[in-house]
Amino acid sequence: MFKFMMAKAPDASCLQMVLSGGKGDAVASAVAGSAIAASYNDQIRPLLDAVDRLRHLKVTQEGIQLPTIVVVGDQSSGKSSVLESLAGISLPRGQGICTRVPLIMRLQDDPSADAPVLQLEYSNGRVVTTTEAKVADAINAATAEIAGSGKGISDAPITLVVRKRGVPDLTLVDLPGITRVPVHGQPDDIYDQIARIIREYIAPKESIILNVLSATVDFPTCESIRMSQQVDRTGERTLAVVTKVDKLPEGLLEKVTMDDVNIGLGYVCVRNRIGEETYDQARAEEERLFKYHPLLSKIDKDMVGIPVLAQRLVQIQAAIIAKCLPDIVKQINDRLSRSSAEVDQMPQDLNNVADAVRAFFHIVKRVCASLEKILVRSEFDEYHDDSHFHGTARISEMLNGYAKKLPAQVPRTSGELFLMEEMRVLEETKGINLPNFLPRSAFLVLLKKKVETIMQEPHDLVNQVWNYVEDIVAKVLLQNSENFPQVQSACRRAVQSMMDKVRARSAHHVKELIDMELVADYTANPEYMKSWAEIMHGHDKFMKAVEDKSKPTKITLEVFGEVDVSHMRANPDLARQAFDLRARLTAYWKSIVLRLIDSLALHVLLGVKRLVETDLEAELADELLGNKMAGMERMLTPSPSTGTKRERLKKSIMLLRQSKDVVANIMDRISASGEV
Ligand code: GDP
Ligand code: MG
Repeated sequence: MFKFMMAKAPDASCLQMVLSGGKGDAVASAVAGSAIAASYNDQIRPLLDAVDRLRHLKVTQEGIQLPTIVVVGDQSSGKSSVLESLAGISLPRGQGICTRVPLIMRLQDDPSADAPVLQLEYSNGRVVTTTEAKVADAINAATAEIAGSGKGISDAPITLVVRKRGVPDLTLVDLPGITRVPVHGQPDDIYDQIARIIREYIAPKESIILNVLSATVDFPTCESIRMSQQVDRTGERTLAVVTKVDKLPEGLLEKVTMDDVNIGLGYVCVRNRIGEETYDQARAEEERLFKYHPLLSKIDKDMVGIPVLAQRLVQIQAAIIAKCLPDIVKQINDRLSRSSAEVDQMPQDLNNVADAVRAFFHIVKRVCASLEKILVRSEFDEYHDDSHFHGTARISEMLNGYAKKLPAQVPRTSGELFLMEEMRVLEETKGINLPNFLPRSAFLVLLKKKVETIMQEPHDLVNQVWNYVEDIVAKVLLQNSENFPQVQSACRRAVQSMMDKVRARSAHHVKELIDMELVADYTANPEYMKSWAEIMHGHDKFMKAVEDKSKPTKITLEVFGEVDVSHMRANPDLARQAFDLRARLTAYWKSIVLRLIDSLALHVLLGVKRLVETDLEAELADELLGNKMAGMERMLTPSPSTGTKRERLKKSIMLLRQSKDVVANIMDRISASGEV
């Protein structure tokens, strides 16, 4: 049966049968029992050894949970006594708290051992060999060393290896008992401390909870029941051991058959060693009790006695290990590849300035390549899902927004009479010349007025673009230099200084663009003449309406729509010039807007390209290579965080490799035995 479970991926129904065998499934447990007896040493022992070795390697520190049987119970419920009975040794006993640190007890059957061999392991590799007579003192001494000599507790475990003839091969963890009320000398938060340790051990689904309950108490009121129900509501991984049956046999049968507290794996009732009894005396007494006691003898034989408990635990342990092992293999492999990848990403050790310069240029190259993809070439493979980094798209949005903000028609104050503004300007710029000459100064004054209304837009656009670009550059640079936190502030300074220059260049350019529009009215754009001619079509109609007082004052013009000319009838010459002025400016405006959009877009694109191709590199080099290579010296001093990270990863990889070997070994044996 176990052979089957180990050779193939464990089959769920088979596991379930083993795990639930305690509830009166006598046939299944008898079959399992004989299978255990027959194949125990060569089948289950290596599995348990492998898990124990993993535990010893502390894989749990890597977040890998191991299948574990965890003993929990309220204080003085008899936890230590149960372990003692299973191991056949004497553990520290007494009033109040005794078990103050987790005790991992590893029982190993050793048919060749004439006398039991006991070993304590704790505090990173300390190993103490002890004897049955002295183990209690040795555990107390080790506890004192770990958790102090007072009543405090600690989560650093002690491992007790018991090699003895006839003990079941089991690894169990004994935890401090749960106490609501601190005894004298215990810290006030003792309950929380203990509860935290217990939870840490029983929460993983890989843990089997061995809940020790005293027959003398009401089970539903037990703290340990409350805690185990929090992590295992259905009780599918909880087994109950009822102790002190000799003290209160009355009503026990009902308690364990009613199962008020949802114990999925069943109950085993035991009677532990009392006083100075020997182990053998205690077992004989237990057997007598369950055979002849008028009440206790009525309890099903599959639910009583330390031997039954031992057998159930061995079964459960084998089942849970077989169930967990494939997943452990997977987790070890996952973590190993993750840690290895992380190490590969770490920077090489830098030994001299040349190394540092090389590393520096490597970063610059990567940053510039990345920025070129984002900001110039529209290749977003590195930031597929983060649209903020889709630089060309974002900049093009900004340019579109800018183009939309520039008015397509000459902006004018609403509600004003037709050509009023033009006439005012003409009055003001009147020269001493022939009346039908349009003064150029009038045109320029009006042009300036109109251009000034949109002057802020190009400034806003370049600010918007450079704020965005600065953000992107800083982020990409920081990402790529995260292995050298000691130079990141210098990198930030370099970006800052570069952006200052870029912004100044753009401010200057925008100012020049505006100045150029104001210096003269010029365009080679044929659109201008076309558009002007179109407006001038309406010129005769307009003049007729102004001059011929018998005609209606309201007319509709092709480009300007419906207009009223009544206010111009007094001065037809001025009206003619005003119309002319309006026609020219309207036609010319399109050229101005087009120039502002096109040339600024090209300016921005050129700026981005220059920044990526030369500016950033130059600025970083200035900042980090300048001042006698001070930046390189800083790169050479290893940052403490990198050092610790590297150490941690190295350790973790070593541990995972060892664990992998352990597991690979056991898997080989399993598949080899599966072929027999
Ligand atoms: P722990 O605090 O849960 O580890 O409990 P201990 O194992 O130290 O036991 C507490 C007390 O209960 C000790 O005095 C034990 O001798 C006693 N005890 C444990 N099991 C039994 C039992 O089955 N019968 C009797 N009569 N006393 C027991
Ligand atoms: Mg104890």
